[in-house]
Amino acid sequence: MALRMSTLFLRTLREDPVDAEVPSHRLLVRAGYIRRAAPGIYSWLPLGYRVYRNVERIIREEMDAMGAQEVHFPALLPREPYEASNRWTEYGDNIFRLKDRKGADHLLGPTHEEMFTLLVKDLYSSYKDLPLYLYQIQTKYRDEPRPRAGILRGREFVMKDSYSFDVSDEAFMKSYNAHRDAYIRIFDRLGFDYVIVAAMSGAMGGSASEEFLATAENGEDTYVRCTSCDYAANVEAVRVAVPDPVPHDDVPDVHAEHTPDTPTIETLVDHLNAKFPRHDGREWTAGDTLKNVVVTLVHADGRREPLAVGVPGDREVDLKRLEAQVLPAEVEPFLETDFAANPALVKGYIGPGVLGEENASGIRYLLDPRVVEGSRWVTGADVEGSHVLDLVSGRDFAGDGTIEAANVRDGDPCPRCGSPLESARGIEMGHIFQLGRRFAEALDLRVLDEHGKLVTVTMGSYGVGVSRAVAAIVENSHDQDGIIWPRQISPADLHVVATGKDDAVFSAAERLVGGLEDAGLSVLYDDRRGVSPGVKFKDSELVGVPTIVVVGRRLADGVVEVKDRRTGEREDIPVDSAVEHLARIVRDD
Ligand code: ATP
Ligand code: MG
Repeated sequence: MALRMSTLFLRTLREDPVDAEVPSHRLLVRAGYIRRAAPGIYSWLPLGYRVYRNVERIIREEMDAMGAQEVHFPALLPREPYEASNRWTEYGDNIFRLKDRKGADHLLGPTHEEMFTLLVKDLYSSYKDLPLYLYQIQTKYRDEPRPRAGILRGREFVMKDSYSFDVSDEAFMKSYNAHRDAYIRIFDRLGFDYVIVAAMSGAMGGSASEEFLATAENGEDTYVRCTSCDYAANVEAVRVAVPDPVPHDDVPDVHAEHTPDTPTIETLVDHLNAKFPRHDGREWTAGDTLKNVVVTLVHADGRREPLAVGVPGDREVDLKRLEAQVLPAEVEPFLETDFAANPALVKGYIGPGVLGEENASGIRYLLDPRVVEGSRWVTGADVEGSHVLDLVSGRDFAGDGTIEAANVRDGDPCPRCGSPLESARGIEMGHIFQLGRRFAEALDLRVLDEHGKLVTVTMGSYGVGVSRAVAAIVENSHDQDGIIWPRQISPADLHVVATGKDDAVFSAAERLVGGLEDAGLSVLYDDRRGVSPGVKFKDSELVGVPTIVVVGRRLADGVVEVKDRRTGEREDIPVDSAVEHLARIVRDD
Protein backbone atom coordinates (compact mmCIF):
# COMPACT_ATOMS: atom_id res chain seq x y z
CA MET A 1 0.00 0.00 0.00
CA ALA A 2 1.36 3.38 -1.02
CA LEU A 3 1.84 5.86 1.77
CA ARG A 4 -0.46 8.68 0.82
CA MET A 5 0.59 12.06 2.09
CA SER A 6 -3.06 13.18 2.19
CA THR A 7 -3.72 10.78 5.05
CA LEU A 8 -0.24 9.97 6.34
CA PHE A 9 0.24 10.82 10.02
CA LEU A 10 2.87 13.42 9.26
CA ARG A 11 3.40 17.12 9.84
CA THR A 12 6.68 18.42 8.53
CA LEU A 13 8.05 21.48 10.31
CA ARG A 14 9.67 24.52 8.72
CA GLU A 15 11.45 25.52 11.92
CA ASP A 16 14.19 23.66 13.75
CA PRO A 17 13.19 22.39 17.18
CA VAL A 18 14.80 24.65 19.80
CA ASP A 19 16.53 21.86 21.71
CA ALA A 20 18.20 20.32 18.64
CA GLU A 21 21.97 20.77 18.41
CA VAL A 22 22.91 18.32 15.68
CA PRO A 23 21.60 17.85 12.12
CA SER A 24 20.16 14.37 12.68
CA HIS A 25 18.07 15.54 15.62
CA ARG A 26 16.87 18.64 13.73
CA LEU A 27 16.02 16.81 10.54
CA LEU A 28 14.43 13.71 12.05
CA VAL A 29 12.06 15.93 14.04
CA ARG A 30 11.39 18.37 11.19
CA ALA A 31 10.76 15.63 8.64
CA GLY A 32 8.33 13.89 10.96
CA TYR A 33 10.29 10.76 11.81
CA ILE A 34 10.47 11.07 15.60
CA ARG A 35 8.83 13.09 18.40
CA ARG A 36 10.16 13.71 21.86
CA ALA A 37 8.16 12.10 24.68
CA ALA A 38 10.49 13.13 27.53
CA PRO A 39 14.18 14.10 27.78
CA GLY A 40 16.14 11.36 26.01
CA ILE A 41 12.94 9.42 25.21
CA TYR A 42 11.43 9.45 21.73
CA SER A 43 8.49 8.03 19.81
CA TRP A 44 8.75 6.78 16.24
CA LEU A 45 6.20 8.16 13.78
CA PRO A 46 5.13 6.16 10.69
CA LEU A 47 8.01 7.20 8.40
CA GLY A 48 10.55 6.88 11.20
CA TYR A 49 9.38 3.45 12.16
CA ARG A 50 9.75 2.25 8.58
CA VAL A 51 13.34 3.47 8.53
CA TYR A 52 13.99 1.97 11.93
CA ARG A 53 12.61 -1.40 10.78
CA ASN A 54 14.83 -1.34 7.69
CA VAL A 55 17.88 -0.93 9.91
CA GLU A 56 16.64 -3.72 12.15
CA ARG A 57 16.03 -5.99 9.18
CA ILE A 58 19.56 -5.60 7.84
CA ILE A 59 21.04 -6.32 11.25
CA ARG A 60 18.76 -9.32 11.78
CA GLU A 61 19.56 -10.79 8.35
CA GLU A 62 23.30 -10.61 8.95
CA MET A 63 23.09 -11.99 12.48
CA ASP A 64 20.97 -14.89 11.26
CA ALA A 65 23.40 -15.44 8.36
CA MET A 66 26.35 -15.78 10.75
CA GLY A 67 24.51 -18.45 12.69
CA ALA A 68 23.36 -16.40 15.67
CA GLN A 69 19.92 -17.28 17.04
CA GLU A 70 17.44 -14.62 18.01
CA VAL A 71 15.86 -14.61 21.46
CA HIS A 72 14.02 -11.89 23.30
CA PHE A 73 14.45 -11.05 26.95
CA PRO A 74 12.24 -8.88 29.09
CA ALA A 75 13.40 -5.32 29.72
CA LEU A 76 12.13 -5.52 33.31
CA LEU A 77 14.65 -7.60 35.23
CA PRO A 78 15.20 -8.85 38.76
CA ARG A 79 18.02 -7.45 40.86
CA GLU A 80 19.74 -10.72 41.85
CA PRO A 81 21.76 -11.52 38.69
CA TYR A 82 23.03 -7.94 38.58
CA GLU A 83 23.88 -8.20 42.26
CA ALA A 84 25.91 -11.36 41.56
CA SER A 85 27.94 -9.58 38.85
CA ASN A 86 28.26 -6.46 41.04
CA ARG A 87 26.72 -4.32 38.32
CA TRP A 88 23.72 -3.39 40.47
CA THR A 89 26.31 -1.27 42.33
CA GLU A 90 28.75 -0.50 39.51
CA TYR A 91 26.11 1.06 37.30
CA GLY A 92 25.46 3.63 40.03
CA ASP A 93 22.93 6.24 38.93
CA ASN A 94 23.00 5.03 35.35
CA ILE A 95 20.30 2.40 35.76
CA PHE A 96 16.60 2.79 36.28
CA ARG A 97 15.64 0.89 39.40
CA LEU A 98 12.14 0.14 40.58
CA LYS A 99 10.30 -1.93 43.14
CA ASP A 100 7.32 -4.18 42.65
CA ARG A 101 4.31 -4.11 45.00
CA LYS A 102 6.03 -6.52 47.36
CA GLY A 103 9.04 -4.25 47.61
CA ALA A 104 11.35 -6.47 45.53
CA ASP A 105 14.04 -4.58 43.59
CA HIS A 106 14.00 -4.61 39.81
CA LEU A 107 15.80 -2.73 37.06
CA LEU A 108 15.21 -1.83 33.45
CA GLY A 109 17.95 -3.65 31.56
CA PRO A 110 20.88 -1.44 30.45
CA THR A 111 22.47 -4.50 28.75
CA HIS A 112 21.88 -8.20 29.26
CA GLU A 113 25.11 -10.15 29.87
CA GLU A 114 23.78 -11.59 33.14
CA MET A 115 20.51 -12.81 31.68
CA PHE A 116 22.13 -14.51 28.70
CA THR A 117 24.68 -16.20 30.94
CA LEU A 118 21.93 -17.56 33.18
CA LEU A 119 19.83 -18.75 30.25
CA VAL A 120 22.71 -20.76 28.81
CA LYS A 121 23.53 -22.13 32.23
CA ASP A 122 19.91 -23.27 32.53
CA LEU A 123 20.01 -25.35 29.38
CA TYR A 124 23.57 -26.30 28.43
CA SER A 125 26.20 -28.35 30.17
CA SER A 126 28.65 -29.73 27.60
CA TYR A 127 31.41 -28.46 25.33
CA LYS A 128 29.53 -30.24 22.54
CA ASP A 129 26.86 -27.54 22.70
CA LEU A 130 29.41 -24.80 21.99
CA PRO A 131 30.11 -22.47 20.30
CA LEU A 132 26.75 -20.80 20.77
CA TYR A 133 25.74 -17.36 19.51
CA LEU A 134 22.57 -15.75 20.82
CA TYR A 135 21.23 -12.29 20.12
CA GLN A 136 18.29 -10.00 20.65
CA ILE A 137 17.12 -6.68 19.33
CA GLN A 138 15.73 -4.96 22.32
CA THR A 139 14.94 -1.78 24.18
CA LYS A 140 17.57 -0.76 26.73
CA TYR A 141 17.35 1.78 29.49
CA ARG A 142 20.18 3.90 30.82
CA ASP A 143 19.70 7.00 32.90
CA GLU A 144 22.43 8.79 30.92
CA PRO A 145 23.87 11.83 32.69
CA ARG A 146 23.78 13.76 29.41
CA PRO A 147 21.04 12.51 27.08
CA ARG A 148 21.58 14.53 23.93
CA ALA A 149 21.21 14.84 20.21
CA GLY A 150 17.81 13.15 20.02
CA ILE A 151 18.08 9.42 19.45
CA LEU A 152 21.89 9.52 19.23
CA ARG A 153 22.11 9.29 23.00
CA GLY A 154 18.78 8.40 24.49
CA ARG A 155 17.77 7.14 27.90
CA GLU A 156 15.60 4.54 26.16
CA PHE A 157 17.15 3.14 22.99
CA VAL A 158 17.30 -0.03 20.97
CA MET A 159 20.38 -2.20 20.89
CA LYS A 160 21.17 -5.40 19.10
CA ASP A 161 23.19 -7.32 21.63
CA SER A 162 24.71 -10.70 20.99
CA TYR A 163 26.81 -12.99 23.10
CA SER A 164 29.14 -15.82 22.23
CA PHE A 165 29.84 -18.83 24.43
CA ASP A 166 33.00 -20.88 23.94
CA VAL A 167 34.94 -23.51 25.77
CA SER A 168 38.39 -21.95 25.29
CA ASP A 169 40.09 -18.67 24.40
CA GLU A 170 41.20 -20.05 21.02
CA ALA A 171 37.62 -21.00 20.18
CA PHE A 172 36.52 -17.57 21.37
CA MET A 173 38.76 -15.79 18.85
CA LYS A 174 36.88 -17.54 16.04
CA SER A 175 33.57 -16.33 17.45
CA TYR A 176 34.97 -12.82 17.81
CA ASN A 177 36.15 -12.76 14.22
CA ALA A 178 32.84 -14.15 12.97
CA HIS A 179 31.09 -11.25 14.70
CA ARG A 180 33.60 -8.78 13.34
CA ASP A 181 32.91 -10.01 9.80
CA ALA A 182 29.15 -9.83 10.34
CA TYR A 183 29.52 -6.26 11.62
CA ILE A 184 31.47 -5.28 8.54
CA ARG A 185 28.63 -6.60 6.38
CA ILE A 186 26.01 -4.83 8.52
CA PHE A 187 27.73 -1.45 8.41
CA ASP A 188 28.49 -1.75 4.70
CA ARG A 189 24.81 -2.39 4.04
CA LEU A 190 23.66 0.42 6.31
CA GLY A 191 25.52 2.67 3.92
CA PHE A 192 27.55 5.08 6.04
CA ASP A 193 31.24 5.75 6.42
CA TYR A 194 32.82 4.04 9.38
CA VAL A 195 36.15 3.00 10.86
CA ILE A 196 37.10 0.08 13.09
CA VAL A 197 39.24 1.17 16.01
CA ALA A 198 40.89 -0.46 19.01
CA ALA A 199 38.78 0.26 22.08
CA MET A 200 38.79 0.04 25.83
CA SER A 201 37.06 -2.97 27.25
CA GLY A 202 35.80 -0.77 30.06
CA ALA A 203 34.57 -2.41 33.22
CA MET A 204 34.13 -5.70 31.38
CA GLY A 205 37.63 -7.12 31.42
CA GLY A 206 39.01 -9.09 28.50
CA SER A 207 41.49 -7.79 25.99
CA ALA A 208 40.13 -8.01 22.43
CA SER A 209 37.93 -4.97 22.00
CA GLU A 210 37.07 -2.93 18.94
CA GLU A 211 34.58 -0.23 18.14
CA PHE A 212 32.86 0.58 14.88
CA LEU A 213 32.64 4.35 14.66
CA ALA A 214 30.58 6.24 12.11
CA THR A 215 32.83 9.07 11.00
CA ALA A 216 31.13 12.35 11.95
CA GLU A 217 32.55 15.79 12.67
CA ASN A 218 30.36 16.26 15.71
CA GLY A 219 30.65 12.71 17.03
CA GLU A 220 31.26 12.30 20.76
CA ASP A 221 34.17 9.93 20.30
CA THR A 222 37.62 10.95 19.16
CA TYR A 223 39.84 8.41 17.50
CA VAL A 224 43.32 8.55 16.08
CA ARG A 225 44.75 6.79 13.09
CA CYS A 226 48.28 6.46 11.89
CA THR A 227 49.22 8.40 8.78
CA SER A 228 51.29 5.46 7.57
CA CYS A 229 50.33 2.08 9.09
CA ASP A 230 46.80 0.72 9.74
CA TYR A 231 46.78 1.50 13.48
CA ALA A 232 43.51 3.13 14.58
CA ALA A 233 42.26 3.51 18.12
CA ASN A 234 39.70 5.36 20.16
CA VAL A 235 41.73 8.00 22.05
CA GLU A 236 40.57 6.33 25.24
CA ALA A 237 42.47 3.21 24.20
CA VAL A 238 45.68 4.80 22.90
CA ARG A 239 48.76 3.51 24.69
CA VAL A 240 51.56 6.01 24.21
CA ALA A 241 54.92 4.86 22.92
CA VAL A 242 57.04 4.79 26.09
CA PRO A 243 60.47 6.42 25.64
CA ASP A 244 63.62 4.64 26.81
CA PRO A 245 65.03 5.50 30.24
CA VAL A 246 67.32 8.55 30.18
CA PRO A 247 70.85 8.52 31.62
CA HIS A 248 71.02 11.07 34.44
CA ASP A 249 74.48 10.70 36.04
CA ASP A 250 75.39 14.29 35.21
CA VAL A 251 72.15 15.86 36.46
CA PRO A 252 72.81 18.12 39.46
CA ASP A 253 71.00 17.52 42.73
CA VAL A 254 67.42 18.65 42.92
CA HIS A 255 67.07 22.23 44.15
CA ALA A 256 64.09 24.38 45.14
CA GLU A 257 63.92 27.90 43.72
CA HIS A 258 61.87 30.94 44.50
CA THR A 259 59.43 31.43 41.59
CA PRO A 260 56.88 34.00 42.80
CA ASP A 261 53.54 34.37 41.02
CA THR A 262 53.93 31.32 38.79
CA PRO A 263 50.81 29.25 39.47
CA THR A 264 50.32 28.38 35.77
CA ILE A 265 52.63 26.57 33.37
CA GLU A 266 52.83 29.65 31.17
CA THR A 267 53.89 32.01 33.97
CA LEU A 268 56.36 29.40 35.22
CA VAL A 269 58.02 28.95 31.82
CA ASP A 270 58.37 32.73 31.37
CA HIS A 271 59.88 33.04 34.83
CA LEU A 272 62.33 30.18 34.23
CA ASN A 273 63.52 31.73 30.97
CA ALA A 274 63.98 35.12 32.64
CA LYS A 275 65.64 33.94 35.86
CA PHE A 276 67.10 30.48 35.28
CA PRO A 277 68.42 30.31 31.70
CA ARG A 278 69.33 26.79 30.63
CA HIS A 279 72.96 25.84 30.12
CA ASP A 280 72.30 24.03 26.85
CA GLY A 281 71.25 27.28 25.19
CA ARG A 282 67.67 26.35 24.37
CA GLU A 283 64.66 27.94 26.04
CA TRP A 284 62.55 26.30 28.72
CA THR A 285 59.26 24.99 27.33
CA ALA A 286 56.08 23.70 28.90
CA GLY A 287 57.25 20.17 28.11
CA ASP A 288 60.09 20.55 30.65
CA THR A 289 57.61 20.92 33.47
CA LEU A 290 55.57 18.33 35.28
CA LYS A 291 51.97 19.34 35.88
CA ASN A 292 50.13 17.69 38.75
CA VAL A 293 46.36 17.67 38.46
CA VAL A 294 44.19 16.53 41.34
CA VAL A 295 40.67 15.21 40.74
CA THR A 296 38.10 13.38 42.82
CA LEU A 297 37.17 9.82 41.95
CA VAL A 298 33.65 8.88 42.91
CA HIS A 299 33.54 5.12 43.26
CA ALA A 300 30.43 3.10 42.46
CA ASP A 301 29.74 2.64 46.18
CA GLY A 302 29.79 6.42 46.65
CA ARG A 303 33.28 6.58 48.21
CA ARG A 304 35.19 9.74 47.20
CA GLU A 305 38.93 9.47 46.68
CA PRO A 306 41.34 12.22 45.61
CA LEU A 307 43.66 11.19 42.77
CA ALA A 308 46.71 13.09 41.50
CA VAL A 309 47.81 12.71 37.89
CA GLY A 310 51.23 13.92 36.72
CA VAL A 311 51.55 14.85 33.04
CA PRO A 312 54.16 16.78 31.06
CA GLY A 313 53.22 20.47 31.29
CA ASP A 314 52.62 20.78 27.55
CA ARG A 315 49.72 18.34 27.86
CA GLU A 316 46.31 18.41 29.47
CA VAL A 317 44.60 15.69 31.41
CA ASP A 318 41.99 14.38 28.96
CA LEU A 319 38.93 13.66 31.10
CA LYS A 320 37.53 11.02 28.76
CA ARG A 321 40.82 9.16 28.76
CA LEU A 322 41.09 9.45 32.51
CA GLU A 323 37.51 8.32 33.00
CA ALA A 324 38.03 5.31 30.75
CA GLN A 325 40.97 4.20 32.94
CA VAL A 326 39.16 4.49 36.26
CA LEU A 327 35.78 2.97 35.32
CA PRO A 328 33.39 2.26 36.93
CA ALA A 329 34.48 5.19 39.12
CA GLU A 330 33.52 8.65 37.85
CA VAL A 331 35.71 11.73 37.80
CA GLU A 332 34.69 14.99 39.46
CA PRO A 333 36.62 18.24 39.87
CA PHE A 334 38.67 18.83 43.00
CA LEU A 335 36.95 21.73 44.72
CA GLU A 336 38.10 24.52 47.04
CA THR A 337 36.58 22.61 49.93
CA ASP A 338 38.68 19.57 48.92
CA PHE A 339 41.81 21.73 48.98
CA ALA A 340 40.81 22.95 52.42
CA ALA A 341 40.51 19.36 53.58
CA ASN A 342 43.98 18.51 52.18
CA PRO A 343 46.31 21.20 53.61
CA ALA A 344 49.44 19.51 52.20
CA LEU A 345 48.32 20.60 48.73
CA VAL A 346 49.42 24.13 47.78
CA LYS A 347 47.30 25.13 44.82
CA GLY A 348 49.42 26.04 41.81
CA TYR A 349 52.57 24.56 43.37
CA ILE A 350 51.62 20.91 43.93
CA GLY A 351 54.57 18.54 43.55
CA PRO A 352 55.65 14.94 44.12
CA GLY A 353 57.02 15.99 47.50
CA VAL A 354 53.60 15.55 49.06
CA LEU A 355 51.88 13.33 46.52
CA GLY A 356 51.73 9.56 46.72
CA GLU A 357 50.30 7.16 49.24
CA GLU A 358 53.55 7.26 51.26
CA ASN A 359 53.81 11.03 51.39
CA ALA A 360 52.24 13.87 53.38
CA SER A 361 48.97 14.08 51.45
CA GLY A 362 48.49 10.31 51.20
CA ILE A 363 46.89 10.97 47.81
CA ARG A 364 47.44 8.28 45.17
CA TYR A 365 49.75 9.66 42.47
CA LEU A 366 49.78 8.25 38.95
CA LEU A 367 52.22 9.40 36.28
CA ASP A 368 52.08 9.70 32.55
CA PRO A 369 54.12 6.85 31.00
CA ARG A 370 56.44 9.47 29.46
CA VAL A 371 57.75 10.30 32.91
CA VAL A 372 60.39 7.59 32.52
CA GLU A 373 63.32 6.69 34.74
CA GLY A 374 65.92 9.44 34.50
CA SER A 375 63.67 12.10 32.92
CA ARG A 376 64.25 15.53 34.42
CA TRP A 377 61.49 17.93 35.47
CA VAL A 378 60.60 21.30 36.93
CA THR A 379 57.60 20.98 39.20
CA GLY A 380 55.87 22.41 42.25
CA ALA A 381 57.82 22.52 45.52
CA ASP A 382 54.63 22.34 47.62
CA VAL A 383 55.36 25.83 48.92
CA GLU A 384 53.59 28.96 47.65
CA GLY A 385 55.73 30.67 44.98
CA SER A 386 58.33 27.93 44.75
CA HIS A 387 59.33 25.18 42.30
CA VAL A 388 61.94 22.44 42.25
CA LEU A 389 64.39 22.08 39.34
CA ASP A 390 66.46 19.09 38.21
CA LEU A 391 63.99 16.70 39.77
CA VAL A 392 64.81 13.28 38.33
CA SER A 393 62.20 10.55 37.99
CA GLY A 394 63.31 7.38 39.77
CA ARG A 395 66.08 9.25 41.60
CA ASP A 396 64.09 11.93 43.42
CA PHE A 397 60.52 10.75 43.17
CA ALA A 398 58.26 7.96 42.01
CA GLY A 399 54.52 7.70 41.58
CA ASP A 400 52.21 4.93 42.73
CA GLY A 401 51.92 3.76 39.12
CA THR A 402 51.29 5.08 35.61
CA ILE A 403 48.09 6.17 33.90
CA GLU A 404 47.14 6.97 30.31
CA ALA A 405 45.31 10.22 30.91
CA ALA A 406 47.30 12.86 29.03
CA ASN A 407 45.67 14.17 25.87
CA VAL A 408 46.73 12.65 22.56
CA ARG A 409 47.73 15.20 19.93
CA ASP A 410 47.91 15.20 16.17
CA GLY A 411 51.51 14.42 15.28
CA ASP A 412 52.14 12.21 18.32
CA PRO A 413 54.07 9.09 17.32
CA CYS A 414 52.07 6.00 16.41
CA PRO A 415 52.59 3.37 19.14
CA ARG A 416 53.01 0.74 16.44
CA CYS A 417 55.29 2.36 13.85
CA GLY A 418 56.27 5.80 15.12
CA SER A 419 54.76 7.79 12.23
CA PRO A 420 52.56 10.78 13.13
CA LEU A 421 49.02 10.17 14.35
CA GLU A 422 46.06 12.23 13.22
CA SER A 423 42.74 12.53 14.98
CA ALA A 424 39.12 12.62 13.83
CA ARG A 425 35.71 12.24 15.40
CA GLY A 426 33.07 9.57 15.22
CA ILE A 427 29.90 8.12 16.69
CA GLU A 428 30.14 4.73 18.36
CA MET A 429 27.86 2.43 16.38
CA GLY A 430 29.01 -0.94 17.50
CA HIS A 431 31.33 -2.51 20.02
CA ILE A 432 32.66 -6.06 19.97
CA PHE A 433 34.56 -7.37 22.92
CA GLN A 434 35.99 -10.20 24.86
CA LEU A 435 34.19 -10.62 28.17
CA GLY A 436 36.45 -13.41 29.24
CA ARG A 437 35.05 -15.32 32.20
CA ARG A 438 33.79 -12.46 34.29
CA PHE A 439 30.07 -13.22 33.97
CA ALA A 440 30.47 -16.97 33.63
CA GLU A 441 32.43 -16.96 36.89
CA ALA A 442 30.05 -14.66 38.74
CA LEU A 443 27.04 -16.73 37.71
CA ASP A 444 28.81 -20.09 37.59
CA LEU A 445 28.36 -21.00 33.96
CA ARG A 446 30.48 -24.12 33.47
CA VAL A 447 30.41 -27.01 31.03
CA LEU A 448 32.17 -30.36 30.81
CA ASP A 449 35.10 -30.28 28.41
CA GLU A 450 36.19 -33.18 26.22
CA HIS A 451 38.11 -34.74 29.13
CA GLY A 452 35.07 -34.65 31.37
CA LYS A 453 36.43 -31.74 33.39
CA LEU A 454 34.27 -28.76 34.39
CA VAL A 455 35.49 -25.56 32.73
CA THR A 456 34.21 -22.02 32.97
CA VAL A 457 32.77 -20.79 29.69
CA THR A 458 34.45 -17.85 27.97
CA MET A 459 32.19 -15.20 26.51
CA GLY A 460 32.08 -12.34 24.03
CA SER A 461 29.63 -9.47 23.93
CA TYR A 462 28.68 -7.57 20.79
CA GLY A 463 26.44 -4.50 20.58
CA VAL A 464 25.01 -2.38 17.81
CA GLY A 465 23.04 0.80 18.45
CA VAL A 466 19.96 0.20 16.30
CA SER A 467 18.09 3.41 17.02
CA ARG A 468 21.36 5.34 17.11
CA ALA A 469 22.14 3.99 13.63
CA VAL A 470 19.11 5.83 12.22
CA ALA A 471 20.53 9.12 13.51
CA ALA A 472 24.09 8.29 12.48
CA ILE A 473 22.95 7.62 8.93
CA VAL A 474 21.33 11.06 8.85
CA GLU A 475 24.48 12.66 10.27
CA ASN A 476 26.35 11.02 7.44
CA SER A 477 23.87 11.79 4.70
CA HIS A 478 21.99 15.08 4.59
CA ASP A 479 22.24 18.58 3.12
CA GLN A 480 20.77 21.96 4.04
CA ASP A 481 17.39 20.94 2.59
CA GLY A 482 16.93 17.68 4.42
CA ILE A 483 17.74 14.02 4.79
CA ILE A 484 19.19 11.90 1.97
CA TRP A 485 18.49 8.24 2.75
CA PRO A 486 20.70 5.49 1.41
CA ARG A 487 18.47 3.32 -0.80
CA GLN A 488 18.38 0.31 1.60
CA ILE A 489 17.21 2.41 4.56
CA SER A 490 14.76 4.77 2.87
CA PRO A 491 11.15 4.71 4.13
CA ALA A 492 10.10 4.14 0.48
CA ASP A 493 11.74 3.30 -2.83
CA LEU A 494 10.19 6.26 -4.59
CA HIS A 495 8.53 9.53 -3.71
CA VAL A 496 5.92 10.37 -6.32
CA VAL A 497 4.80 14.00 -6.23
CA ALA A 498 1.68 15.05 -8.10
CA THR A 499 1.52 18.82 -8.66
CA GLY A 500 -1.05 21.32 -9.87
CA LYS A 501 -4.82 21.31 -9.95
CA ASP A 502 -5.36 19.23 -13.03
CA ASP A 503 -7.38 16.04 -12.41
CA ALA A 504 -5.58 14.39 -15.34
CA VAL A 505 -2.28 14.78 -13.46
CA PHE A 506 -3.67 13.10 -10.37
CA SER A 507 -5.18 10.22 -12.29
CA ALA A 508 -1.93 9.69 -14.22
CA ALA A 509 0.01 9.77 -10.93
CA GLU A 510 -2.49 7.33 -9.43
CA ARG A 511 -1.94 4.93 -12.34
CA LEU A 512 1.82 5.28 -12.09
CA VAL A 513 1.77 4.55 -8.35
CA GLY A 514 -0.41 1.49 -8.94
CA GLY A 515 2.01 0.24 -11.59
CA LEU A 516 5.01 0.79 -9.35
CA GLU A 517 3.38 -1.10 -6.53
CA ASP A 518 2.51 -3.97 -8.84
CA ALA A 519 6.19 -4.04 -9.77
CA GLY A 520 7.00 -4.56 -6.09
CA LEU A 521 8.21 -1.05 -5.29
CA SER A 522 7.23 0.88 -2.19
CA VAL A 523 5.95 4.38 -2.83
CA LEU A 524 5.45 7.51 -0.81
CA TYR A 525 2.79 9.38 -2.81
CA ASP A 526 2.17 13.09 -2.37
CA ASP A 527 -1.48 13.11 -3.44
CA ARG A 528 -2.39 16.22 -1.48
CA ARG A 529 -4.77 18.57 -3.26
CA GLY A 530 -4.46 22.29 -2.75
CA VAL A 531 -0.85 22.17 -1.54
CA SER A 532 1.52 24.23 -3.67
CA PRO A 533 4.24 22.54 -5.75
CA GLY A 534 6.85 24.55 -3.81
CA VAL A 535 5.72 23.10 -0.49
CA LYS A 536 5.59 19.60 -1.95
CA PHE A 537 9.10 19.88 -3.38
CA LYS A 538 10.45 21.20 -0.08
CA ASP A 539 8.82 18.33 1.78
CA SER A 540 10.24 15.79 -0.65
CA GLU A 541 13.74 17.14 -0.08
CA LEU A 542 13.26 17.20 3.68
CA VAL A 543 11.88 13.65 3.86
CA GLY A 544 14.80 12.36 1.81
CA VAL A 545 13.60 9.44 -0.34
CA PRO A 546 16.49 9.04 -2.83
CA THR A 547 14.36 9.12 -5.99
CA ILE A 548 11.65 11.73 -6.49
CA VAL A 549 9.22 11.49 -9.40
CA VAL A 550 7.27 14.60 -10.33
CA VAL A 551 4.03 14.18 -12.22
CA GLY A 552 2.96 17.65 -13.26
CA ARG A 553 2.82 20.15 -16.09
CA ARG A 554 5.12 18.11 -18.35
CA LEU A 555 2.57 15.30 -18.45
CA ALA A 556 1.07 17.13 -21.43
CA ASP A 557 4.30 16.21 -23.30
CA GLY A 558 4.01 12.63 -22.11
CA VAL A 559 6.87 12.86 -19.61
CA VAL A 560 7.43 12.82 -15.87
CA GLU A 561 10.51 14.23 -14.17
CA VAL A 562 12.83 12.00 -12.14
CA LYS A 563 15.11 13.65 -9.63
CA ASP A 564 17.98 12.01 -7.81
CA ARG A 565 17.91 13.42 -4.26
CA ARG A 566 21.58 12.52 -3.79
CA THR A 567 23.09 14.15 -6.86
CA GLY A 568 20.38 16.65 -7.75
CA GLU A 569 20.36 15.28 -11.32
CA ARG A 570 17.06 15.48 -13.18
CA GLU A 571 15.84 13.66 -16.24
CA ASP A 572 12.56 13.53 -18.13
CA ILE A 573 11.27 10.07 -18.87
CA PRO A 574 8.25 8.98 -20.93
CA VAL A 575 5.32 8.27 -18.65
CA ASP A 576 4.47 5.16 -20.68
CA SER A 577 7.68 3.37 -19.77
CA ALA A 578 8.12 5.04 -16.37
CA VAL A 579 7.47 1.90 -14.30
CA GLU A 580 10.22 -0.13 -16.00
CA HIS A 581 12.59 2.81 -15.93
CA LEU A 582 12.06 3.50 -12.22
CA ALA A 583 12.21 -0.18 -11.31
CA ARG A 584 15.60 -0.30 -13.01
CA ILE A 585 16.86 2.74 -11.09
CA VAL A 586 15.86 1.19 -7.77
CA ARG A 587 17.21 -2.24 -8.65
CA ASP A 588 20.55 -1.08 -10.05
CA ASP A 589 21.45 1.18 -7.17
P1 ATP B 1 28.75 5.12 24.76
O1 ATP B 1 30.23 5.05 24.94
O2 ATP B 1 28.32 5.83 23.50
O3 ATP B 1 28.01 5.57 25.98
P2 ATP B 1 28.63 2.41 25.48
O4 ATP B 1 30.05 2.07 25.29
O5 ATP B 1 28.09 2.62 26.81
O6 ATP B 1 28.26 3.65 24.55
P3 ATP B 1 27.74 -0.23 24.82
O7 ATP B 1 27.36 -0.64 26.18
O8 ATP B 1 28.98 -0.75 24.18
O9 ATP B 1 27.72 1.36 24.73
O10 ATP B 1 26.45 -0.44 23.89
C1 ATP B 1 26.48 -0.96 22.57
C2 ATP B 1 25.96 0.04 21.58
O11 ATP B 1 24.71 0.61 21.97
C3 ATP B 1 26.88 1.24 21.41
O12 ATP B 1 27.90 0.93 20.51
C4 ATP B 1 25.94 2.30 20.88
O13 ATP B 1 25.82 2.20 19.48
C5 ATP B 1 24.61 1.94 21.51
N1 ATP B 1 24.29 2.85 22.62
C6 ATP B 1 24.87 2.88 23.84
N2 ATP B 1 24.33 3.82 24.61
C7 ATP B 1 23.36 4.42 23.87
C8 ATP B 1 22.42 5.47 24.11
N3 ATP B 1 22.36 6.09 25.29
N4 ATP B 1 21.56 5.82 23.11
C9 ATP B 1 21.61 5.19 21.92
N5 ATP B 1 22.46 4.19 21.64
C10 ATP B 1 23.33 3.80 22.59
MG1 MG C 1 31.03 0.78 24.14
